Amino acid sequence: MSTSAHPSADTADALRTGRSVTDRLVGANERYAADFTDPGMDARPVLNVAVVACMDARLDLHAALGLELGDCHTVRNAGGVVTDDVIRSLTISQRALGTRSVVLIHHTNCGLESLTEDFRHELEMEVGQRPAWAVEAFRDVDQDVRQSMQRVRTSPFLLHTDDVRGFVFDVHSGLLREIDPA
Ligand SMILES: [Zn+2]
Repeated sequence: MSTSAHPSADTADALRTGRSVTDRLVGANERYAADFTDPGMDARPVLNVAVVACMDARLDLHAALGLELGDCHTVRNAGGVVTDDVIRSLTISQRALGTRSVVLIHHTNCGLESLTEDFRHELEMEVGQRPAWAVEAFRDVDQDVRQSMQRVRTSPFLLHTDDVRGFVFDVHSGLLREIDPA
């Protein structure tokens, strides 16, 4: 997760021309589809792996891990946190679509490091309703990866918890650093 202080040139262009960012994406899709040929793939990931990662815009999962179309499931949220909904996706990934390995990827300079659970309290003050979800803010990214690995390994719903590995992606070097689960 990350926040940006400066609008990009594309955003400025969109504001000037009245085209929204979404319009730009739809235009890009038309060009994509024009060259697209149906690979005729099954929905089951070729590498039998599910990757759970932060939604951070600086993390290009496919490029960073050498993944191709059809190789894996990707499950992303703020922080790459293993929430109940991530367990839901992993359960479906393993039980309905045949994946066996789980890779967890958090990263340096995550937006969640600058938040606390006070975020929920502030939200409640603003909107008059306390969110049901935890912010899952953290101070120590290594410890957060360990906690995520533990949540996957101890889930009663998953078929395969023997190959669960966790990493921190360095947004400056592009390198992964593996976290010892112990
Ligand atoms: Zn993040």
